[in-house]
Amino acid sequence: MSKEMREPIESGCPDAWQYMHPVSRKNYGMWKYHEHPRPGVLKHVALSGDELWTVKAGTQRILDVFTLRKLCEIGEKYGDGYVHFTIRSNMEFLVADGNKVGPLIQALESAGFIVGGTQNSVAMISHTQGWLHCDIPGTDASGVVKSMMDELIDEFKQTNMPNRVHITTSCCQINCGGQGDIAINVQHTKPPKINHDLVANVCERPTVVARCPVAAIRPAMVNGKPSLEVDEKKCICCGACYPPCPPMQINDAEHSKLSIWVGGNHSNARGKPTFQKLVAAGIPNNPPRWPEATAIVKRILNTYKKDAKDWERIGEWIERIGWPRFFEMVDLPFTKYHIDTWRGARASLNASTHIRF
Ligand code: SF4
Ligand code: SF4
Repeated sequence: MSKEMREPIESGCPDAWQYMHPVSRKNYGMWKYHEHPRPGVLKHVALSGDELWTVKAGTQRILDVFTLRKLCEIGEKYGDGYVHFTIRSNMEFLVADGNKVGPLIQALESAGFIVGGTQNSVAMISHTQGWLHCDIPGTDASGVVKSMMDELIDEFKQTNMPNRVHITTSCCQINCGGQGDIAINVQHTKPPKINHDLVANVCERPTVVARCPVAAIRPAMVNGKPSLEVDEKKCICCGACYPPCPPMQINDAEHSKLSIWVGGNHSNARGKPTFQKLVAAGIPNNPPRWPEATAIVKRILNTYKKDAKDWERIGEWIERIGWPRFFEMVDLPFTKYHIDTWRGARASLNASTHIRF
């Protein structure tokens, strides 16, 4: 099938067509079926009879140039020289000849990479930029992911879960990340601390006031200088004021914690999209291995693996057994902090709480 290339533009990614495997280009939109011959491998068969094999290798996402070169060398030598990245930082190697799959996997594994992440596995945990690129992280999402995946590596390499599990992390409380079967998100527990000497020089005060979702910020004069003040009774400690106004420091070694949410679903394939729900809060943000958060995630996964029916996603499993039973089974306390008592939530966020008003 021929296709016109998109014209290059000044910004944005180039047209992917030119990088696609020739078998993908030839059979674009004309695939008959696909199979899953083993964990980490997919076989697609086109209406024309062509086959295309995909081998999926996990990476650490933030790749140094040497690792990237090594992966590409393996792709050149053992594959057909065509790769692509998935949104969960895996690298997929595409080959037209099924006989190449075994040696390709062997080459990847002997170079220290893991092959898996397909079908009913725990897919590679997706993570946000953290300290490498962003200016507001309260934790190092990449570090959390590395520590957790070290312990979940067998679940990535095998397909023993009732259905696919997507785990996400997020290094602040408001922006990227979230919405997975399990999400590990930063949770601030104290209002921002304002450096009044800097506000007038650094922050656009109307922008910061407008940014607060609960109208807790007001302009104020402090020590004769224009600044801001926060009504701490209203503040929900979301951290949304910190990006436009860094003097409103909210990250804190002791009071910025981790929280775990479950059951988020973007798609509407079998049920409507769902918000994730809070199940554990106040977990220590404890580098370099975050053992407390990892222990809870493993507990949820093990219980899900034992108790869910085939093909139930985590959210579907919990809806079937009920939230009280879920809390009992994973041995997590249900506290008053799990209930969203903010008045505005009745009209909007009510759908994300366990209890409806
Ligand atoms: S989750 Fe927040 S801190 Fe992390 S990269 Fe995204 S915006 Fe930055
Ligand atoms: S942390 Fe959130 S709720 Fe609190 S003042 Fe800042 S923007 Fe408002």
